[in-house]
Amino acid sequence: MGVTDIERVAVLGAGNMGHGITEVVAMAGYPVMMRDIENDIVEDGYESIEWSLRKLAEKDRLDESPEDILGRIETTVDLEAAVSDADFVIEAAPERLDLKRDIFAELDELAPDGALLASNTSSLSITKIAEATDRPDRVAGMHFFNPPVKMDLVEVIYGAETDDETAEIVYEFVEAAGKTPIYVRKDVNGFVVNSVLGPFVDEPAWMVSNDEATVRQADAAMVHRRGYPMGPFELADLTGLDVGYHVRKEAGRDIPPILQEKVDAEELGRKTGTGYYEYEDDDGTDYAPEDGEGFDTLRVEARMVNEAAKLVGDDVATPEAVDTGMRLGTGFPEGPCGRADETGLDVVLSKLEELREETGEDRFEPADHLVELVEAGKTGRDSGEGFYEYLTDSVGDYRFLNYDLDDGLLTVELDRPERLNALSGDLLGEIDHLLTNADADDVRCVLFEGAGDRAFSAGADIGGFADATPTDFMDVTPTFETVNEFDRPTIAKIDGFCLGAGLELALACDLRLATEGSEFGSPEIGLGLIPGGGGTQRLLRILGETRAKELVFRGNRIGAERAEEWGLVNRCVPEDEFEETVAEFVDDILEGPPIALKVAKTVMNEGGDASLDAGLAMESQGFGLLMSTDDVREGTAAFREKRDPEFEGR
Ligand code: NAD
Repeated sequence: MGVTDIERVAVLGAGNMGHGITEVVAMAGYPVMMRDIENDIVEDGYESIEWSLRKLAEKDRLDESPEDILGRIETTVDLEAAVSDADFVIEAAPERLDLKRDIFAELDELAPDGALLASNTSSLSITKIAEATDRPDRVAGMHFFNPPVKMDLVEVIYGAETDDETAEIVYEFVEAAGKTPIYVRKDVNGFVVNSVLGPFVDEPAWMVSNDEATVRQADAAMVHRRGYPMGPFELADLTGLDVGYHVRKEAGRDIPPILQEKVDAEELGRKTGTGYYEYEDDDGTDYAPEDGEGFDTLRVEARMVNEAAKLVGDDVATPEAVDTGMRLGTGFPEGPCGRADETGLDVVLSKLEELREETGEDRFEPADHLVELVEAGKTGRDSGEGFYEYLTDSVGDYRFLNYDLDDGLLTVELDRPERLNALSGDLLGEIDHLLTNADADDVRCVLFEGAGDRAFSAGADIGGFADATPTDFMDVTPTFETVNEFDRPTIAKIDGFCLGAGLELALACDLRLATEGSEFGSPEIGLGLIPGGGGTQRLLRILGETRAKELVFRGNRIGAERAEEWGLVNRCVPEDEFEETVAEFVDDILEGPPIALKVAKTVMNEGGDASLDAGLAMESQGFGLLMSTDDVREGTAAFREKRDPEFEGR
């Protein structure tokens, strides 16, 4: 059996998760039957799907009409009707082991023999759920995040008996549904994301309990200094303190006294109006950036890295899976493995050893894998290897971009769709490394594009700059110059947001092509900043002073049609003509004479800033240089012979 054999899907549960999963599955084109125990609940779930699809349609995020998608959804309260002809069943019933085991036992009787069964449990053992059936090899965990329609990540979890074929089909199904799967290869409590997230909330709670920090200090430091989307206490208040409390109890872990006090006082967070913050009479999470001073962020991050190291060392997940999981599942700016490689694994290990020694607490006991890496000298990026291998002098694997060199076309995809391809220091470093190390003889054209369907790049990753000092920004960011000066023509393929640093990257390219729905702007002024990365200067040269100042001073966005009118992009075309237009530009450049294109680029880039006399002198020098190339002979011969030239770049 393969993923293509899945034709009909059933989802059990029409609650928060069940109706969201049903919507995702129907959007992916599958007929799906949603089942709950009462008609009212099924109807509520269906209405929530209708509402959500209408919202998506308003935002132009659907490829077909809401009606067409709804047409694939059926509802029922009858389990047999729901599953008797399903190839794949996804269970999203309440989080109780006895209930899930009963459901799976019944499912085993009613679903076809070959059908795969998956549970969306967040914390129960897949192995124990699967044991209720006679087909534990065909049962897997499939952990969506809330809300399923918005959240890109799905953990695909092996129970003790799950066979590879089953896990692979679930993984491919997730991909077919347009989501990003990660494998969790062993049935560990908390799977990957919640295991690593645990210490993010847990360690600050211990620090506050021991009077080593305050709530506001911890939240401000993690958000403003380390770039996390929310502070640990803010997050706990949002999810509900009782939720974290029960998860810890179930896992047999000690409870930080501050958490115990809050739960005893029934101050459970936003839902009760009071938690770590006061939401009813006060403003809630009222911490300010300066509150974060003096908080030991490394202590919290070291514990997250330690959890990640346990998962990697125990073959539960690869570093890539852990990092992808944390970025997509929690919105962390970076995964813990990549971040630890930057910090230095030796630094992380020393921190844990120091805390273990000082406090005597087991939670700081370093993971074997972390110790092994450090002992082997694999201390992170600076040593060339840590969780990841870093290829320092050749073009290698990158974490935030994908590239492909095919017949002279180097395609560079900015790959952080969950952050609208925001340019972090790491991503810029990777672009710089790729272009600096790419062999220009093999490349005839470079095409930059953004992953996902929403943005080329929506700006700089401000979170990633949180801990930088003013002097870190004094030097011109080299990446934009590397792109601008690359020996071959570069094209920005823009479909969606192209803002701030994203626009600066596009401006550093030679040509820019955009879909009609794309939006351009330099919003930096709204942050009290000015465009960097050459933004002020290139806008001035490309648009002229009047228009450039409008963009920079007002900080507004302009649509693609205006961008074309202003000469900011070469073409603005409807979505369905975009690929063809890009291909035409790319083909012309690939077939063009590489040396003449290089000389044209240099002479025009340099000449733009020189006096006319100097520019003309450069041009004639370039002209003379080209006269002796084979390409000129080929070009003129082909012209005489009325055939297409074949330029070799000599
Ligand atoms: P929910 O309470 O909103 O929905 C559960 C639904 O299951 C209810 O409508 C209930 O009537 C229905 N139900 C009960 N018995 C059933 C049965 N025998 N067959 C079919 N449906 C039945 O809960 P939820 O938040 O949607 O969570 C469902 C599952 O997803 C749980 O296992 C939970 O741990 C997991 N999960 C939840 C979240 C989250 O943030 N809410 C995130 C990831 C995973």
